[in-house]
Amino acid sequence: MRMDPQKSVLVTGGAGFLGSFLCEQLLERGHEVLCVDNFFTGGKRNIEHLLDHPRFELMRHDVTFPLYVEVEQIFNFACPASPVHYQYNPAQTTKTSVHGAINMLGLAKRTGATILQASTSEVYGDPQVHPQREDYWGHVNPIGPRACYDEGKRCAETLFFDYRRQHQLKIKVMRIFNTYGPRMHPDDGRVVSNFITQALRGQPITLYGQGDQTRSFCYRDDLIEGCLRLMATPDDVTGPVNIGNPQETTIRALAELILELTGSASPLVYRPLPQDDPMQRCPDITLARELLGWEPTIELKTGLMRTIEYFDATLAGRAQQP
Ligand code: NAD
Ligand code: UDP
Repeated sequence: MRMDPQKSVLVTGGAGFLGSFLCEQLLERGHEVLCVDNFFTGGKRNIEHLLDHPRFELMRHDVTFPLYVEVEQIFNFACPASPVHYQYNPAQTTKTSVHGAINMLGLAKRTGATILQASTSEVYGDPQVHPQREDYWGHVNPIGPRACYDEGKRCAETLFFDYRRQHQLKIKVMRIFNTYGPRMHPDDGRVVSNFITQALRGQPITLYGQGDQTRSFCYRDDLIEGCLRLMATPDDVTGPVNIGNPQETTIRALAELILELTGSASPLVYRPLPQDDPMQRCPDITLARELLGWEPTIELKTGLMRTIEYFDATLAGRAQQP
């Protein structure tokens, strides 16, 4: 499928879970892709099937440093996304979001490129408004353990809109809600990867708190489709736009579904709820429906089956690449 004329496109964080699938989809649509990554949480294995592609180029680079390349579109995805990963080196996480945004916005300013920011539902913090609409300002603890990520992403949004007001940049801000699918890192500590690997290994399923907190899980392919549609909108469409699946589930119900789908007999065990863990999260996607004609198409059960298949192969040492 080809959506618009061939463009030279930069994907930062292109060797990560979402970035690698985005690179693949851009190549399929006929674009030239420059993938930039420092391999903090991503890996060459995610993109090794693309390395020989004539329109694909890989560059090891940290976005906290300036980058001089010529591109027409930028997807700024560089940033660890799992709480375990982003809390490992919190100062670096904030630098990646803030310095990374400044450097990529500077690049967009010089080249005239359209730039899309992979923002997050974490900008809403532990929300007091439910479901979350884009005009909700959020409820974030600025000094807690999640702040390096939440506040970093909030500041990045601020920078995007200031560059728009000050320099008329073509910006798009996408607020991504929990997304899962093949190529997630099996040990990244996120709930879907944890529960599936625990179920497949016959280990206890670790429920934090009572498992009553909710999340809404979007399958990777749906998410990237929404992302590409947002990039293709006219210049006056900036977002922020929520992209996620409004099907909300408790974490306990997710555990039970994964046990059913894997046929695992793993027991459920309870662990302390991490500080500032949001109690509920669900996107209002009215805006995405109106602006992009987009909504998720893949049911949680179907997406989980595909993800379980991927983890099963990965854990057995048969990692699949398309
Ligand atoms: P990921 O950890 O798999 O990918 C992030 C990629 O960025 C990795 O390849 C990593 O090596 C790279 N990276 C990190 N710091 C970098 C730096 N300083 N310079 C260059 N590269 C760097 O995570 P993901 O799930 O693919 O998330 C991608 C983006 O989407 C992130 O910006 C994340 O905040 C956002 N997001 C993801 C989710 C989700 O549920 N997956 C939800 C909300 C937002
Ligand atoms: N969680 C859990 N067990 C795990 C990992 C996570 O109960 O082994 C919970 C976590 O406390 C949170 C939810 O699952 O309430 C989603 O966590 P994740 O780290 O995937 O992402 P978050 O949405 O919190 O950024």
